[in-house]
Amino acid sequence: MSDLQQTLDHLRCALGDSGVVTGAAISQRHYSDWTGHAPACPAALLLPRNTQEVSAALRICNAAGQSVVPQGGMTGLAGGAVPRTSDIALSLERLRGIEEIDPASATISVLAGTPLQDIQQAAADAGFLFALDLGARGSCQIGGNIATNAGGNAVIRYGMTRDLVLGLEVVLADGRVLDLRNKMIKNNTGYDLKQCFIGSEGTLGIITRAVLKLAPQRGELTTALCALPDYPSAVAFLRRLQRSVGTPEAYELMWQDFFRLGVSWLENPTAPMADDYPLYVLFESAAASALLESTLEAAMEAGEVLDAILATSHTQARGLWKIREATGEFPLRMTPLNFDVSLPIGQIGEFAERCRARLEQQWPGNHSVYFGHIGDSNLHLTVDCHSLPQPAPILDIEELVYSEVGAMGGSVSAEHGIGLLKRDFLHHSVSAESQAVMQQLKDCFDPKGILNPGKLLGGTAA
Ligand code: FAD
Repeated sequence: MSDLQQTLDHLRCALGDSGVVTGAAISQRHYSDWTGHAPACPAALLLPRNTQEVSAALRICNAAGQSVVPQGGMTGLAGGAVPRTSDIALSLERLRGIEEIDPASATISVLAGTPLQDIQQAAADAGFLFALDLGARGSCQIGGNIATNAGGNAVIRYGMTRDLVLGLEVVLADGRVLDLRNKMIKNNTGYDLKQCFIGSEGTLGIITRAVLKLAPQRGELTTALCALPDYPSAVAFLRRLQRSVGTPEAYELMWQDFFRLGVSWLENPTAPMADDYPLYVLFESAAASALLESTLEAAMEAGEVLDAILATSHTQARGLWKIREATGEFPLRMTPLNFDVSLPIGQIGEFAERCRARLEQQWPGNHSVYFGHIGDSNLHLTVDCHSLPQPAPILDIEELVYSEVGAMGGSVSAEHGIGLLKRDFLHHSVSAESQAVMQQLKDCFDPKGILNPGKLLGGTAA
């Protein structure tokens, strides 16, 4: 009997036959994540029902030196949950449910396989807001959100996933269960171990439970679209809003090229305002509209804002958001090469100009668009590979963009993580010394290297 067969037999004893799936019975959605990168059928798919089964499974795999790839909702954009044929995939989908809402602590305790949208709904039903929000909300799981330290639409106001996690339960590679659940805001009892697992992309342990922070529900939001003369004005206007009406709930900057594209893809492609301004910002605020109007007037007098539309109905607000949501059409209308980078907010404008100029110099006539959650220092840029010589020089473009990010002290991943797709570019943002310490941390939690090998840190590409 092969080593793998022996390991599978042990796993079937621990998880039951329904907890170990092999061969053609493994659904193809476990082959790759949202990127569709390097799809592969794993050697087996494990479907544990509780923490004890996750622990038993890892103990068996660790003893056998068998690699394990944790899988959440498979909506990741960095290839972090993609298995190789020699890996065993472990899906958290059966660890699903809300365990407790504690109104006094304003916390919600959940199992790791719970879809984000279920948590948002449970919080709303209890009169609270769970502030993490992203387009994949119906499919992604909270365990995946925590493992990638996901960002999303409301980071400017509520922070990244890391800021919303108070406690975790984690199973280590050897099967030990760390109960790090906590409902307190203040808790200074030495190293905050849970932080190691947030953003670790399944390489240090498997998250099985989480205690999350809830916020008070928001009142009515006002949506506004403003035209701006230049990038420094976008930053000055953000700071003005923060001083006068408080931090906005969203602050989405669109360069002219992105705005034009977004408008041209509308069902009724009529621009809500002239399309010849250099930049546009779409923002949402919970402030009273009179205060917002006076702040906008002051910004126009200062020359930070050239034109503005305050949505007067939900339909008008949705119409404005549709322009920003053009990103959802990218895979259908172009061959997108997407970048998710961050830079100090004051340098994002200069970065966009430098990047655009270097891309044009190297590949004249190429088409790239720029947009971002700049209040979170996050810029997205997308190059349409269709506009490049074929086969598209993808690695060369990635090297150009990431080396520019590195040269300006930025990060090659703002919110999507490193996974497989950015692993070879990590050095642009993380020094060799820091990577060596990250590897030491990995060796400490997972000495045999069974958890998600080859992801995030060095190793051979899948
Ligand atoms: P998966 O893709 O299944 O896994 C992601 C990583 O986490 C892998 O490395 C996996 O091994 C690990 N993992 C999963 N579960 C666990 C666990 N329980 N314990 C340990 N490790 C685990 N991301 C953003 O940050 N901001 C956005 O605005 C955003 N918008 C998106 C919009 C769309 C339409 C799509 C498709 C994706 C978007 N994403 C966004 C990316 C993605 O949704 C997030 O990365 C999400 O957090 C991944 O969750 P998941 O459950 O799908 O994880």
